[in-house]
Amino acid sequence: MTPPANSPSPSELTAWDRDHNLHPWGGLGTWKQDEYQRLNTGDGVYLWDSEGKRFIDGPGGMWCVQIGYGREEMAEAIADQVRKMVYASPWSSTSEPAAILARKIAERTPGDLNNVHYTTCGSTAVDTALRTVGLYNNVLGRPEKKRILSREKAYHGSTYLASSMTGKERFKTRFDKAQDIVHFLPDVNPNLRPDGMSPDDWCDAKIEEMEKIILELGPDTIGGFIAEPILCSGGVIVPPKGYHAKTLELCRKYDILYISDEVVTGFGRLGHWFASETVFDIVPDMITCAKGLTSGYLPLGACIMSDRIMKDMRDAGEDELFYNGYTYSGHPVSCAAALKNMEIMEREDILGHVLRVSEVFQDRLHSIGDRFDIVGEVRGMGLLGCLECRPDLSDESFAAHMQFGNKLDAACERMGLMLRPFGNMAVFSPPLVISEAEVDEMFTIMEAGLEELNAEYNA
Ligand code: PLP
Repeated sequence: MTPPANSPSPSELTAWDRDHNLHPWGGLGTWKQDEYQRLNTGDGVYLWDSEGKRFIDGPGGMWCVQIGYGREEMAEAIADQVRKMVYASPWSSTSEPAAILARKIAERTPGDLNNVHYTTCGSTAVDTALRTVGLYNNVLGRPEKKRILSREKAYHGSTYLASSMTGKERFKTRFDKAQDIVHFLPDVNPNLRPDGMSPDDWCDAKIEEMEKIILELGPDTIGGFIAEPILCSGGVIVPPKGYHAKTLELCRKYDILYISDEVVTGFGRLGHWFASETVFDIVPDMITCAKGLTSGYLPLGACIMSDRIMKDMRDAGEDELFYNGYTYSGHPVSCAAALKNMEIMEREDILGHVLRVSEVFQDRLHSIGDRFDIVGEVRGMGLLGCLECRPDLSDESFAAHMQFGNKLDAACERMGLMLRPFGNMAVFSPPLVISEAEVDEMFTIMEAGLEELNAEYNA
């Protein structure tokens, strides 16, 4: 169907989207039935839909709109770069924004992580890191050292390899996965520890468990460990204190490369450019990032590798190529957007703001947990939070949890909060520029939504 030259009507847009736009995680059973809310404008932490209704953005897009919506200077930086030079093949050339950004990222990463391989998103950054584990061990002459350790509740993306590392047991899929190269470590959530066990003892137990698994599988078969510092899509699970450093020690002991997936935690979510070292005390071998790198204004990701692994490969390999990359690796316009994003974050001291506003955010989040029986667990750190609800459901199926989540979503949306829960989990990751008053507004609506549902699903 050829769209008419004049503007399409709202009902045409709805129909075209419904009939031809297959959305991520779209329902196969509801093919050509699902109609999505159309968002028209954004400003700061607010969004307006096609009907002109305003919402405060709880998830910050998809955990990505750090500097908020509607930044005129971002639009200008992007337009300027388009006019100046829109594309440079990363195979044979570079561009000013790509070179400056690589240096700026390397200056902010911990230790010797100085080598930025640009990708198009988080999944391709993770894919690159995983492929690099394989390459590293092939070049070093140990092709059997390939298996990757991941964790239950992890989310690492949607390419074949990245999705294979995803251990969210709720979202079973019949898409194929590379099952033979991954092993999932059990859930690290400290709230699962047995009664009477301290968080420190839980941490030690998790480390013992990991070492046991490494020994059972054979250290010579394990090439990498991939871990989000906080398991975000899995429900903002914060591992126990000391866990990160101890897992890194195990990786060092058994010569396993440590990939810290900072696609969500990078670029300010916890008040720092990267959380690996500043918050969790580790200098991994690779860091992956995306999302907040451009605040979602344009797609861009990166896999940043240590000098050590690059040197090892250089010293061991002969005429070896880093045979990975994308047409849009280091796209000049995306890099220009990332540079402007970093400039805004620095000028407005957004990292400092996150450290300050996080206290109010976390206090308010946890007070909701204390107020409502329907809230089973509250988890969070920085500007990340999750209210895991335990509605009294006669049927504990995934569909029943989704139905509960959809009702909570609808109640909050009616009152002006975009929530987008994953079933029974309401996750918060608002734009980093959120003010204390806006945090209050967001959680006041959340409370009103929970009050409505409490009556129906009293736990
Ligand atoms: N890694 C983590 C930790 C993520 O949360 C995500 C996406 O949510 C990804 C990787 C994949 O990123 P993308 O959707 O940009 O491919």
